[in-house]
Amino acid sequence: MHRSGAVMAWNVFKFCTALRGLGSIMILLVLGVVGVTYYAVVLTNYGPALYDGGFDSFLAFVVLLLFHGLLVMLLWSYFSVVLTDPGSVPPNWRPVVDEERGESDPLSGSDYSALQSDSSNPRIRYCRKCNQFKPPRCHHCSVCGRCVLKMDHHCVWVVNCVGALNYKYFLLFLFYTFLETSLVTLSLLPHFIAFFSDGEIPGTPGTLATTFLAFVLNLAFALSVFGFLIMHVSLVSANTTTIEAYEKKTTPKWRYDLGRRKNFEQVFGTDKLHWFLPGYSEEDKRRIPALQGLEYPSKPDFDSEEF
Ligand SMILES: [Zn+2]
Ligand SMILES: [Zn+2]
Repeated sequence: MHRSGAVMAWNVFKFCTALRGLGSIMILLVLGVVGVTYYAVVLTNYGPALYDGGFDSFLAFVVLLLFHGLLVMLLWSYFSVVLTDPGSVPPNWRPVVDEERGESDPLSGSDYSALQSDSSNPRIRYCRKCNQFKPPRCHHCSVCGRCVLKMDHHCVWVVNCVGALNYKYFLLFLFYTFLETSLVTLSLLPHFIAFFSDGEIPGTPGTLATTFLAFVLNLAFALSVFGFLIMHVSLVSANTTTIEAYEKKTTPKWRYDLGRRKNFEQVFGTDKLHWFLPGYSEEDKRRIPALQGLEYPSKPDFDSEEF
């Protein structure tokens, strides 16, 4: 029995290492899909159509303008998720246990050894792997091998954890990917239908195959990202992470649900100009503590209750 447990732990470790190794391949895969799509839309179909004259030129101009605009936003959001640290626990972070003690001072060191062993206190969360206290909504990621603030999930497509500091960028990546792949699907649809018509279609076998592949890939991405986007819209409006959505199945009331508007602002900020950009205004960063990933306001009637 003991031996099988050890083997299982080893397998899980191998799995996590494999996921980490998958990293650069996934980035290349994303860039590969972008490359195939760019070749099909810009170089093969709508670039040459610019010179057709009349309405065709106008349509090609509109498609190319939207395509490039969305592509810039998509890649900007994508690399923001990939390169932004989702949020780690500051060294020596200590929970403030003021309610039980009736004072606002953080506990002193000697109290902590007692608290660590006090498993009956659900307000104190401790990570045995990292050997540190966990702030509220923080979870340990076995792929990253560390605790991540307001961890949502570990995403293989962005080779990073999605957490407090890059969740908005991840949502924008989904949003722009959905718009871009829908645009590509619609703009390549006439060319795709032409494959099944009897008439001659212009182009070499290579360009025709790329157009076919780009259409199928973009349709598949548009459909799957749409489902994912709908799921995350409902998570944001309820102020829940993917992990918490699994955990809180049995609790109808959720302490962090402050109403749709406030829940949205905790992820996207209050500055409308920044809603569609992977970043925050300096004022929002100062004003909204949730954007730092350590403190989250909860409903007033929950303040006196346990986690
Ligand atoms: Zn941890
Ligand atoms: Zn992770």
